[in-house]
Amino acid sequence: MEENRKVALITGAARGIGKEIAIELAKNACDVSINYRTKTDELDLLKKEIEEKYKVRCFLTQGDVAIYEDAEKMVKETIENLGRIDILVNNAGITKDGLLMRMSKEDFESVIDINLVGTFNVTRNVIPFMVKQKSGKIINISSVVGVSGNAGQTNYSASKAGIIGFTKSLAKEVASRNILVNSVAPGFIATDMTAVLSEQVKENINTQIPLKRMGTAQDIAKVVNFLASENSNYITGQVINVDGGMLM
Ligand code: NAP
Repeated sequence: MEENRKVALITGAARGIGKEIAIELAKNACDVSINYRTKTDELDLLKKEIEEKYKVRCFLTQGDVAIYEDAEKMVKETIENLGRIDILVNNAGITKDGLLMRMSKEDFESVIDINLVGTFNVTRNVIPFMVKQKSGKIINISSVVGVSGNAGQTNYSASKAGIIGFTKSLAKEVASRNILVNSVAPGFIATDMTAVLSEQVKENINTQIPLKRMGTAQDIAKVVNFLASENSNYITGQVINVDGGMLM
């Protein structure tokens, strides 16, 4: 490892917000470990682009965050290949929307398992290393609907509200070890996750956003980079809404 270069592990970073976070951290001189669930050709291109453009190391680690052993493996592999973990971004997440009256137990449980239990699984495996090195930054991706609730998303908003409670409790537990834990709550961001929404739904959403546009993955990545950087060394246990002013 190069002197003073930080190492970041980002979950679910093959596409969408996670991919943009990996690029932004690499741009800011971090070695990046990209966790992916599904292997694609674009992943190898992403690794090549990051290494050539930003002159940092990029490691790809396969695993499903909902499976504890996979989380254990991705942390172990990252440390074996990149030397340490200074920054963990728990980004992997899914939606399975529907009204509660029609929601299956499987759809409720799978969203909690990936979004909330997945955050526990990876964090649980990273924390002992951060405690040992007496430093670390953990950034958990929540959502505005974890704060406000949203009809048709009881599973998703419960998982994202859970992430906020998890963030605040862990921040209190590990502050004395110089480990800072924060959460970013994106509003509506243009990725595959929101591409499934109809044009009419998107227009309705835009009318509720004071800045009158959906966010970009970069809007989120820049705030994550701030929380991962030395510029945020007196911030812990916070939830930062990045939502064009939706929640005030
Ligand atoms: P996305 O485009 O659907 O990408 C989700 C990523 O997570 C994919 O790379 C996916 O991998 C990965 N993933 C899903 N389940 C996983 C698992 N079990 N293990 C490992 N990786 C897994 O979504 P996004 O919009 O970028 O969302 C990223 C995060 O931001 C999520 O936590 C989401 O809840 C949150 N968020 C998004 C919005 C929004 O408007 N887009 C708003 C608020 C919060 P595969 O390719 O294998 O599926």
